[in-house]
Amino acid sequence: MGAQQVADRFAELYGAGPEGVWAAPGRVNLIGEHTDYNDGFVMPFALPHQAVAAVSRRTDGVLRLHSADIGDSVAELRVDDLAPGGDHDWTAYPAGVVWALREAGHAITGADVHLASTVPTGAGLSSSAALEVVIALALDDLYGLGLRRWQLARLCQRAENVYVGAPTGIMDQTASACCEAGHALFLDTRDLSQRQIPFDLAAGGLRLLVVDTQVKHAHSGGEYGKRRAGCEKGAALLGVDALRDIPYDGLDAALARLGDEEIVPLVRHVVTENERVERTVALLRAGDPRAIGPVLTEGHASLRDDFRISCPELDLVVDTALAGGALGARMTGGGFGGSAIVLAEATDVETLTKAVEEAFAAAGFTAPRVFEAVPSAGARRLA
Ligand code: ADP
Ligand code: MG
Repeated sequence: MGAQQVADRFAELYGAGPEGVWAAPGRVNLIGEHTDYNDGFVMPFALPHQAVAAVSRRTDGVLRLHSADIGDSVAELRVDDLAPGGDHDWTAYPAGVVWALREAGHAITGADVHLASTVPTGAGLSSSAALEVVIALALDDLYGLGLRRWQLARLCQRAENVYVGAPTGIMDQTASACCEAGHALFLDTRDLSQRQIPFDLAAGGLRLLVVDTQVKHAHSGGEYGKRRAGCEKGAALLGVDALRDIPYDGLDAALARLGDEEIVPLVRHVVTENERVERTVALLRAGDPRAIGPVLTEGHASLRDDFRISCPELDLVVDTALAGGALGARMTGGGFGGSAIVLAEATDVETLTKAVEEAFAAAGFTAPRVFEAVPSAGARRLA
């Protein structure tokens, strides 16, 4: 999606060109799944797919929103009337960001927005965060708020949690706001400290495939809430603030103390997953990206067997890829559909893609969408 194209459409809609054009990417989580609401570690990287928004300020309290991907007419809201709850459509994401900024004391007096996105929606690739972050960055720039990237991410999370009503962690927005090309982002979700970890796949002769199963996940749905509540119960039973506080070498003792059959596998997933993130960081720092393959695969088994959020389509991607010689594979994102990632030798990409497509056809599943993920830049101004 070119900046010029988005700016041109803005001018058609609103009668004058925008003050600027901004972009924010979707993300893939390399490792660290369902750890973010447990104060744990995550490691996403940004996709080349991004939301692009052309934006101008207004001074009359009016917020006009248009998405090229929805095809509706322009939505017109009043910033004074923005309030969480109620029946929201897609405009809740950008409107929620305006609401969160105003709640934080920033005098946003309106805006005209036109946006277009290449991030697939509902595929676990965070089209929602891309949408929020692009708006937050544009308003930060235009209104001269001087907010740090992590602060923008926090405000976007608040927009999604409170305004939209989807209980998500901080990873998606931080990834979209803070990632750098050629790197994965190690994020400690407790203190929001972050490190850019070199993740240059091409240099090592590797590729990372994203396989969108086209099974739509219901992210704000009950299963996510159940897992989250289960983790919170586990932390309470163990007398810690969050499962992050259970060290990996204290896991067995903690599980023995839990005495709740349903909570044990949830705790085991979170504690082992944090360890897998740390192992992945160490391997990448040691310049050994091939060696993270088995760590990814272990992560999938944990999500499938302990956290129980996989689905037949995701398992089929992983099993087929591994049988075809992939270095590692796992589901990524919230679960129950969405996407899986496959780490493979560059030379195996074609045969692996074909194998997954054939396996889906044989199983009678909807054809998956397979694409290569190159670690890309985070949110930025384009024009
Ligand atoms: P994910 O973030 O995994 O893609 P979510 O359910 O969190 O899935 O967010 C998807 C929602 O975000 C869509 O249903 C829509 O409301 C909104 N959205 C995402 N991209 C766009 C877009 N380009 N235009 C309008 N709304 C969008
Ligand atoms: Mg989302």
